[in-house]
Formats: sequence, C-alpha cells, structure tokens
Amino acid sequence: MITVKNLHKKFGQLHILKGIDLEIAKGEVVVVIGPSGSGKSTFLRCLNLLEEPSEGGITFEGESITEKRHNINKTREKMGMVFQQFNLFPHKSVIDNITMAPIRVKKIDKGKAEILAMDLLRTVGLEDKRDAYPSQLSGGQKQRIAIARALAMEPHVMLFDEPTSALDPEMVGEVLDVMKNLADKGMTMVIVTHEMGFAREVGDRILFMDQGVIMEQGTPQEVFGSPKHQRTQDFLSKVL
Ligand code: ADP
Ligand code: MG
Repeated sequence: MITVKNLHKKFGQLHILKGIDLEIAKGEVVVVIGPSGSGKSTFLRCLNLLEEPSEGGITFEGESITEKRHNINKTREKMGMVFQQFNLFPHKSVIDNITMAPIRVKKIDKGKAEILAMDLLRTVGLEDKRDAYPSQLSGGQKQRIAIARALAMEPHVMLFDEPTSALDPEMVGEVLDVMKNLADKGMTMVIVTHEMGFAREVGDRILFMDQGVIMEQGTPQEVFGSPKHQRTQDFLSKVL
C-alpha cells in the first residue's frame, strides 16, 4: 500500500531523516518506537506530505505522491491522521467536528454524513456526546472524537503520532482500545507510540528509529524479545 524509498528530510542544515526504506502492506499495523528527536514525527508527516521530503520517493496505492504534479489533497483524504494534541474545532459540536470534512470535501449530504458520524460515535463509545462541545470532554474522549473524525473520511490508512502522550494515565486505555478495535477490523495503521505493551500486542511489525534511520525492525517478538542492536537494547531497557 505504501512504499518509501530512500527518504531524506533536511531542515536547513539539519539532516533529520537519513534514508528510510519501507514497505507497508494493506492491513498491516506498523508501530514506530524510538527516542525523542529521532525523527518519528517527521517521518509520519512525510508520509502524507505535511512535510516535503528533501530526497527520495513515496508511493501510495501504486501512485507516486512525491511527484510534483501529484494532487496531494486527494491522497490526504485517504490518509487519516491523529495527533498528540487533538486539534478539534473548539466552537463546533462533536457531530459537526465529525461531519465537516465529509460534507465540505467529499460533498456528502448532511443527513448521510450524520448517519455515518453516529455509527462512528458508537464505534468509539461516545454516541451520547453528539451535541457536546470539545471543552466539555475529557482528554480521552477528545482523542476518541478525533479518531472518529479522521475515520469519517473513510481513509485507507490511519497515521497516529503519539495519540496517548497528552492524556492522563487513566484515559490511555480507552484510546488504545479504540485503536486495537480498528486494527482488528483490518485497518492499515502506522502508529508512533511509547506504549510498549500496546506495541507488542497490536503491532504486526515494530520499527525502531534512531537518529533518522530505521535501526532495527521485526515482529514484536523479535524486537522486544531479542533486539539485535545495542541502541535498541539501551532504548528498551529505559522504557520497559
Ligand atoms: P520525534 O518525533 O522522534 O521526537 P521529530 O521528528 O519531531 O522527532 O524531530 C526530529 C528532529 O527534527 C528534532 O531534532 C527536531 O528538533 C527537528 N525538527 C522537527 N521539525 C522541525 C522543523 N520544522 N524545523 C527544524 N527542525 C525540526
Ligand atoms: Mg514526535
């Protein structure tokens, strides 16, 4: 579904991503771990061109998205993204947050968009919050709404950048449960997280990123059970 070839990203003189090669299959759940500053967010943002790669290519569903004439807006519709900060529209109700993009971008009529939104609210366990405003929700609820909002565009892949890092500990589980259900339904997902238990349980593949490269990758068993590189071992010994 996604092929990344020799991806580099520089910010001025700073060389952040130093040649990433990766293939992600449909239905695969790829979990990215690694120290702060290793380039995880930059990598995720390059996948949907929120950051423009300095070198290298990305194809998505067979189409090169890094070519100049590619229409990135069309591709972004198929890539849902969830951030650490929920980025809900504060002056819009939950249902309006969820239906806005489908109505405006996909030109779906309001009634249909609301039916889909209610399905999604049920999926994330928040159907009773339909008319609430973001300020009335807990962090965990906001993040579940943010996930529902991303899903409303019916994306083919979901990108998560530390979706639980801003949450109080007691709310982490409810968000991870929603993500786990998505994975079980076959959604293709790329997830940056520090939740190692979740990574081990839900990940089909673990990537360990360090200093702008993929240092090591493998099944959760391989990476957590018998990490090959010293840097992976050092990282895991600090976080496990
Ligand atoms: P991670 O998500 O693994 O913590 P990031 O991808 O956020 O790492 O950042 C990797 C490095 O790139 C950091 O040193 C960060 O300061 C730098 N960086 C990220 N975005 C920018 C930017 N827009 N301009 C300059 N430097 C950036
Ligand atoms: Mg980050």
